[in-house]
Amino acid sequence: MPLPTVAIIGRPNVGKSTVVNRLSALQDAIVFNEPGVTRDRTYKPAFWRDREFQVVDTGGLVFDDDTEFLPLIREQALAALAEASAAIFVVDGLTGLMPSDEEIASWLRQHSVPVLLAVNKCESVDQGAAQAAEFWSLGLGEPFPISGIHGNGTGELLDALITHLPPANEIEESNEIKVAIAGRPNVGKSSLLNAFVGETRSIVSPISGTTRDAIDMVVQHGEQTYRLIDTAGIRKKKNVEYGPEFFGINRAFKAINRADVVLLVIDALDGVTEQDQKLAGRIADEGRGCVIVVNKWDAVEKDAYTIYDHEKLVRERLHFTEWADVIFISAKTGQRVEKILDMVNIAAEQQKRRVSTSVINEVLEEAVGWHSPPTTRQGRQGKIYYGTQVSSRPPAIALFVNDPALFNDNYRRYVEGQFRKSLGFVGTPIRLLWRGKK
Ligand code: GDP
Ligand code: GDP
Repeated sequence: MPLPTVAIIGRPNVGKSTVVNRLSALQDAIVFNEPGVTRDRTYKPAFWRDREFQVVDTGGLVFDDDTEFLPLIREQALAALAEASAAIFVVDGLTGLMPSDEEIASWLRQHSVPVLLAVNKCESVDQGAAQAAEFWSLGLGEPFPISGIHGNGTGELLDALITHLPPANEIEESNEIKVAIAGRPNVGKSSLLNAFVGETRSIVSPISGTTRDAIDMVVQHGEQTYRLIDTAGIRKKKNVEYGPEFFGINRAFKAINRADVVLLVIDALDGVTEQDQKLAGRIADEGRGCVIVVNKWDAVEKDAYTIYDHEKLVRERLHFTEWADVIFISAKTGQRVEKILDMVNIAAEQQKRRVSTSVINEVLEEAVGWHSPPTTRQGRQGKIYYGTQVSSRPPAIALFVNDPALFNDNYRRYVEGQFRKSLGFVGTPIRLLWRGKK
């Protein structure tokens, strides 16, 4: 099951987008939008306590207007509501109860989704309760006075909200790890699949009629279950004539999109090509875990240094995934194939890892101690106040700073490097979100 969705609903200007930004903790900059998946609505990742979910702004809902786009907007809201585990109905505590709030309330009551009533713009705690009280009449239960701008009241709202979300263990669906095997044609993907599955039956050889209905293949190794994504796609291309440029990249992208960890298979004889780099870029962009598998190692003439030289070269050429483990294998002889899964386990674990705020701030303090943020010619210096992890898969850490513009790429890379040095995160991309004071 994907992350549960919370739909934010309300009239225009009540502060829906402010509330979305407040809840998402990521503020407005990054959106883990999945390319390829067309979405008109913006989903933002959020979490509260141990729960992860995503919030979606439905756009201003109006009923009594004769705007041209009305049906479209309502359709959007309806679509968002249909897939939501809960809805937050935002009303404006400053303007008070409006007739269109009542219309929206009765519209919401027609749906079975649990609704939390957030009375926004209640900055003053004393007056907030009074401002909120009149909204009891909407018949949607207790109104929660909040301020999207200042954040007060949002804790209570979120506490109530998560009681309506499916339990975390249901979201995990199972602890299987989804693995995509990606790479150019002829690097040995089907041979590797074959080695994993441990059956030599006609998987590598181009025999027609081997297409199965099942697209994924599930294999077990020790205690762990792995779902190999789109194994049909790996095998299907046999017999098919493709131009030199075409290697089913869209299909590979789709598989990457569904995976937790991607095995990026490289041909040791060819080295890293441009197409391999393209795949690596995609894996990093999508925030997937990665293990770089250099195949056909049996066919390489080697001395004691060869493996180190190769590894260095591979890492240099695949800088998008420079954080990934590199393993040299032979699908043909089976050399080290089993070890790939150990690396997959690590990458999957790191990709969903959570690090406490205190540890993050220790790393930051240390980093700044060794190397202070740059100062502009006008004498302004970057200052990092604190950091906290705001989501996982992949780990995203928000850094609250005086002004993000004061931190150049060099310094940002340095800080990311310090996080990796201290905390590892082997096999997963991480995101640092530089946040200024609003
Ligand atoms: P939306 O149209 O519902 O998405 O509303 P916006 O988030 O764009 O906010 C509409 C207006 O309300 C903006 O001028 C905001 O600055 C203001 N606003 C939003 N949240 C608050 C709040 O908590 N307190 C106050 N006083 N104003 C707010
Ligand atoms: P795919 O197109 O990526 O699925 O690649 P295949 O698994 O079909 O392999 C392409 C070719 O490389 C075949 O001729 C395989 O026999 C050969 N091959 C695959 N793995 C290895 C390996 O580990 N060592 C050697 N020497 N050849 C391999």
